[in-house]
Amino acid sequence: MSEKNESAKVKVTGLTKKYGDNLVLKGIDLSVKNNEVVVVIGPSGSGKSTFLRTLNKLEEPSSGSIIIDDVDIAKKDTDINTVRENIGMVFQHFNLFNNLTVGENIMLAPVQLKKETPEDAAEHAKKLLSMVGLAEKFDAKVQSLSGGQQQRVAIARALAMKPDVMLFDEPTSALDPEMVGDVLAVMKDLAKQGMTMIVVTHEMGFAKEVADRVVFVDDGRILEQGTPEDVFNHPQNARLQDFLNKIL
Ligand code: ADP
Ligand code: MG
Repeated sequence: MSEKNESAKVKVTGLTKKYGDNLVLKGIDLSVKNNEVVVVIGPSGSGKSTFLRTLNKLEEPSSGSIIIDDVDIAKKDTDINTVRENIGMVFQHFNLFNNLTVGENIMLAPVQLKKETPEDAAEHAKKLLSMVGLAEKFDAKVQSLSGGQQQRVAIARALAMKPDVMLFDEPTSALDPEMVGDVLAVMKDLAKQGMTMIVVTHEMGFAKEVADRVVFVDDGRILEQGTPEDVFNHPQNARLQDFLNKIL
């Protein structure tokens, strides 16, 4: 495993999120180092997606601080575009624009938000497509692609903004089983290249192989965390033991 830079890339302190009276995140503290890969596991409804969405400011935190590259993005006056330029997110359901080609999907944000020239953006998009194994799909219609191919395009699209941190919310959960491996391979490559990643997934093989740390979230709190070996082979918390018995 590569040397990790010791500085915190992401530092979350006392993060809470309420929907009406429903306290969904009950005080999350998590520091992620530069180049670190953190896998988040936990039962359905425990707040995993809400956590990632607050990190990307798709949701406003109710309290707490989220410091990314020394900027507190939880503050209401932080420019949301700057935040999103620095944090890429990949969703379960790809969320590509179906009326655009693959290349147009990837070029859209760099051209509109970063004011890259279409020529530069296209060149970068082609490099990213070959990185995710889809070099020949630049002009393809999104709907002509399989789910696994669409998810790899979604990863390329997020990378086109040259983010410092990548968030993945169950990126393989909506895929047919035979597509899962290709998407995980791209994520593994990214990790090897030193991308800082927070990944919500039920793919325990990926977690064991790629994660530096596994974090178990239950009912809006981190109940346990450690190396994959610690968490999977020596779980301490009864809720974690119960969860692992159900999924393994
Ligand atoms: P997970 O990703 O771990 O399955 P979520 O973060 O999606 O969990 O959901 C955690 C809880 O927050 C659930 O009880 C869910 O119903 C609630 N929740 C999520 N998003 C919203 C929303 N936009 N409005 C109201 N409640 C929400
Ligand atoms: Mg979720």
